[in-house]
Amino acid sequence: MVNEKMYALGSKRSAIREIFEYAKKRAAEIGRENVFDFSIGNPSVPAPACVDEAIEHILQETPSVELHGYTSAQGDKNCRDRIAENLRSRFGADISGDDLYLTCGAAASLTVSMHALVTPGTGAEILAFAPYFAEYKVFAESAGARFTPLPTEDGTFLPDFSVLEKAMNPAVAAVVVNSPNNPSGVVYKEETIERLAAFLRAREKEYGHPVYLITDEPYRELVYDEKTKVPFVPNYYDDTLVCYSYSKSLSLPGERIGYIAVSPRAADAKAVYAAVCGAGRALGFVCAPSLFQRVAAECDGKTSDLSVYKRNRDRLYNGLTSLGYTCVYPDGAFYLFVKSPEPDANAFCERARKYELLFVSGDDFGCPGYVRIAYCVSAEQIGRALPLFKALAAEYSLPPKP
Ligand code: PLP
Repeated sequence: MVNEKMYALGSKRSAIREIFEYAKKRAAEIGRENVFDFSIGNPSVPAPACVDEAIEHILQETPSVELHGYTSAQGDKNCRDRIAENLRSRFGADISGDDLYLTCGAAASLTVSMHALVTPGTGAEILAFAPYFAEYKVFAESAGARFTPLPTEDGTFLPDFSVLEKAMNPAVAAVVVNSPNNPSGVVYKEETIERLAAFLRAREKEYGHPVYLITDEPYRELVYDEKTKVPFVPNYYDDTLVCYSYSKSLSLPGERIGYIAVSPRAADAKAVYAAVCGAGRALGFVCAPSLFQRVAAECDGKTSDLSVYKRNRDRLYNGLTSLGYTCVYPDGAFYLFVKSPEPDANAFCERARKYELLFVSGDDFGCPGYVRIAYCVSAEQIGRALPLFKALAAEYSLPPKP
């Protein structure tokens, strides 16, 4: 006998993983160079030099038993202090090492945070703005909450406050925001965060209990224009848990390292932090990888070479829109969220496969009628894919733009 829910989750891959696996199979059949895999957010830019330098000197300077031993469950104190110090200097944040819980990437940060905030059996609800990272539903439901996606403003993918207003109720334990956003690439400006914060503060007052904001931030540094700023949410809203990851900023998705920062200004910050520690314990996310805690502490705030993604974004965005595709301008992350030229985005993905163009349907992000194209690929892949996108556009008679 097995847990039916877990069986169902484990026996069906996510749509992204499904296409990623298909791409590998196809590459074995027809050659890697003939497959244009835009399915997964695996960074194509190597980790910055500071990562290898940190690994080298940590290996030389830290006794092996210490380096490869257990750290404190919530993460090594010295590493937490260093990351917090950096957050203070970068964002003027009121965060100390005692507010941080080091985890295995944003996925662990999110599931731990949701388990920390939700009491099963109480009808708790978690809201997120669509399009959203599909695993939110898995994490929220496994924590015992109902997951409610909220449609966003047409064309901009920004929160629609009239929708939020209708959905909001006293059972909402948390609202999840993800900016820069996967899959839309949209970045919430300060005015959006301020408006959201004011809305939630008013509701907290009305309900007489906190409503938490969970900010999912693996793409915090991945913005490409000088003018694009990513507000540090705890500076705007007290009841915030930041779920950060080094997977994308330092190109370290396989090393599984990130953190949760519980704002010390939260009404019951100490209790929330203790619940985070408890959820980490219950889920087995204790003592994040020791070597990479140290690497993160040294490299926090640095990034891999983002100019590569910027060039990819510009080339693909300009290329696709001039072919007649419609797409919101992506200020950050490394995805384009393109309107499907036919109502069924899955049918569009299928048609693209004829050209060996692989990307994922927006259905999987709670946003039917769109597809996500990940541009964390080589420039060469983009260059060779554009004529194929052109042939695909011709099938739909898309009107090219001058
Ligand atoms: N949240 C979002 C929006 C993501 O895109 C991802 C990964 O792609 C994650 C969370 C999980 O990231 P991690 O690899 O750090 O677990």
